[in-house]
Amino acid sequence: IGALPAPAGLPAPKLSFEFFPPKTEALEQQLWACIRRLAPLGPRFVSVTYGAGGSTQARTHAIVSRILRETALTPASHLTCVGASRAEVDRVARDYWDMGVRHLVALRGDPPPGAERYEPHPEGYAYAADLVEGLRRIAPFEISVAAYPETHPTALSGDHDVDNLKRKIDAGATRAITQYFFDTEVYLRFLDRCAAAGITVPIVPGIFPVNSINQVRKFSAMCGASVPDWMGHLFDGLENDPETRRMVSAVVAAEQVRLLQANGVDEFHFYTLNRPDLVYAIAHILGARPSAPEEASAPASPNGVAEER
Ligand code: FAD
Repeated sequence: IGALPAPAGLPAPKLSFEFFPPKTEALEQQLWACIRRLAPLGPRFVSVTYGAGGSTQARTHAIVSRILRETALTPASHLTCVGASRAEVDRVARDYWDMGVRHLVALRGDPPPGAERYEPHPEGYAYAADLVEGLRRIAPFEISVAAYPETHPTALSGDHDVDNLKRKIDAGATRAITQYFFDTEVYLRFLDRCAAAGITVPIVPGIFPVNSINQVRKFSAMCGASVPDWMGHLFDGLENDPETRRMVSAVVAAEQVRLLQANGVDEFHFYTLNRPDLVYAIAHILGARPSAPEEASAPASPNGVAEER
């Protein structure tokens, strides 16, 4: 890391954090401990995922509503269009607007388990670009969309996928958040391709601190992200050594974000998996500092939880 600039010489990074709606009371407490721990870092927004096929709709709504009521954070609700009619999706979006949500992460969503391929709902928005267009008609939301540095797994080609991102931006999205990646070169080349396609909105890297290499391999096989060999080697032999694993995870993520920062990236979206410690440390390394004295809060349980999406 010797060649990388000292974060002290760089402006504070712009941060956002993604949470998922937990299924149990214990996990809900873990989520709130996580939110309390990360809130003083002053994220521009915190986003809450929407379970596959809208399965967490009520829980996503409840978490976002509590964020609005009990914190000074700006929530962004994820919203998918798979398996729902336009009228249903529009109603959810209107509800969000009425309760004070001004930022949505608009997504198509994945086909339900067991379905071989994605089939749009007969009366629904077919793709995320159509959803963005629909949301624009409902209210002046700030809209973020998904981007795939390694190409969405079912895209016809990388170029088609970048064209699709351009359609989402042209429909009214103002930011893209990327699927996670571990090879910085891949992301930087993706930025070049997007710039060449005329995409000018921020394309914020999604950072996924690795808690378990096996879990990451599983997610990656589904979402088309690749796990470089060097990363697999770093975790070799640590299956039963969670402490060392966490230290290695911290180093891997810290190197990744510092390399991005050295290449001019100053916005980062963290997939927190509702666990704050690694994310807090990495944000600290990037130069983020709490804006006010931190309130005393119990550290979140280190028990593993699976991401909803
Ligand atoms: P789209 O942009 O619609 O693209 C989907 C695929 O269709 C791509 O391959 C694209 O190239 C192709 N395509 C688009 N338009 C056309 C067309 N007209 N004809 C043919 N092909 C087309 N999932 C959840 O269920 N809940 C979440 O909360 C959630 N949050 C996410 C957050 C981020 C930051 C990311 C990166 C992903 C998230 N996902 C979530 C996963 C996402 O729903 C899946 O990756 C899904 O498969 C694609 O969603 P999309 O919005 O990128 O779809």
